[in-house]
Amino acid sequence: MNKTSSELFQQAKHIFPGGVNSPVRSFRSVGGVPPFIERGQGAWIYDVEKKAYIDYVLSYGPLILGHAHHAVVDAIVRTAQRGTSFGMPTPLAIQLAELIRSKLPSVEMLRFVNSGTEAVMSAIRLARAATGKTKVIKFEGCYHGHVDSLLVQAGSGVATLGLPDSPGVTSGTTADTLTAPYNDLDAVARLLDVHRHEVAAIIVEPVAGNMNFVPPIDGFLSGLRQQCDRSGALLIFDEVMTGFRVDLNGAQGLFGINPDLTTLGKVIGGGLPVGAFGGRADIMRHLAPLGKTYQAGTLSANPLAMAAGIATLQQLFQDGYFADIVKVGMKLDEGWRGAAASAGIPITVSRMGTMSGIHFQKDQPRNWTEVNRGDVDLFTRVFHSLLNQGIFLAPSSFEASFISSAHSESEIQQTIEAVTSAFAAQT
Ligand code: PLP
Repeated sequence: MNKTSSELFQQAKHIFPGGVNSPVRSFRSVGGVPPFIERGQGAWIYDVEKKAYIDYVLSYGPLILGHAHHAVVDAIVRTAQRGTSFGMPTPLAIQLAELIRSKLPSVEMLRFVNSGTEAVMSAIRLARAATGKTKVIKFEGCYHGHVDSLLVQAGSGVATLGLPDSPGVTSGTTADTLTAPYNDLDAVARLLDVHRHEVAAIIVEPVAGNMNFVPPIDGFLSGLRQQCDRSGALLIFDEVMTGFRVDLNGAQGLFGINPDLTTLGKVIGGGLPVGAFGGRADIMRHLAPLGKTYQAGTLSANPLAMAAGIATLQQLFQDGYFADIVKVGMKLDEGWRGAAASAGIPITVSRMGTMSGIHFQKDQPRNWTEVNRGDVDLFTRVFHSLLNQGIFLAPSSFEASFISSAHSESEIQQTIEAVTSAFAAQT
């Protein structure tokens, strides 16, 4: 007899803290037992009890072609048969880098790493080295991986110096991190005024996806660009989530803003561990061996991740392919809106490309404070009702939602029926 998810969760708790290898998987914020997954195919995942779910998490973004896409699996298998890592350059890395640069021209040079966290950590070090300045401005509710210096409490006061958000992070580490509310250019201007000549970089999720989904308001990103130009700070777009998700040209293409540095991850690895940071060549040349800024990695640009990324981007870049995913996503949005309207439940649904968010409140939030006005209890009840009906949303009201090319009309229809029934049960 195969073990149930419940039995496996108990077993996992003896070996992994909280039973998991990344906190959100533990279902802490929604309660209950996380389904243990046996396999995925297309838009579906299957747990160890053979229950099937339509997946809107997609490994938190990477799987834009769905699970086990044949082109990605073939590329991984073919590559693995020739060796998995050499600690030497490979042609595959150039191929993936050129595919990325073809859509993100601001990335004149780049370097591959193994996760989004590593990409951000390296980009911050590089920004400090290139500018000779120390402070970094980040926004409340933006997540940039578990980089020590960016694990900073969403501060209340605009000019508040960052306080560590996690035990184990010293106040010294975050002393150079300044926070501002998302979408608030005045707050940024005030920080730059107080810390004139000290700010190395402003780092932003150009479309926020870690406080659920919060798009930038008109002029926010261009305003950041101007403030960086005026102050000499570098503008870092953290496109780990938005890259190849909100638009084929990233958020930077969608909004027509050239950041100085960009961080990437998720989609560019097609479901394998990968990250990248890149940008202006004059900045990137500060990296060793050309410059003195050290950065390295045993498995960086490993052939399996490169092959999975190439296969993914090649599919995605086919004519009309991305637009077709977006069309399906828009039908899903209409379904959510219609179901909520029928049940008289206030929600907002917003989307950019293949990334979207549903907030359980009347108005689209613009920042972390407003996101927190959402009805978390209602989200939790709807989440569990959908889970029971075989629809898998991220187990937290602070996550964005994703769709893949494997989601077809029939999956959308099935999802809308489940949402309608979940909402009806709330009234
Ligand atoms: N930056 C953003 C915007 C992210 O969404 C994430 C992860 O969700 C990261 C960085 C960290 O990436 P990773 O989990 O690959 O370390």
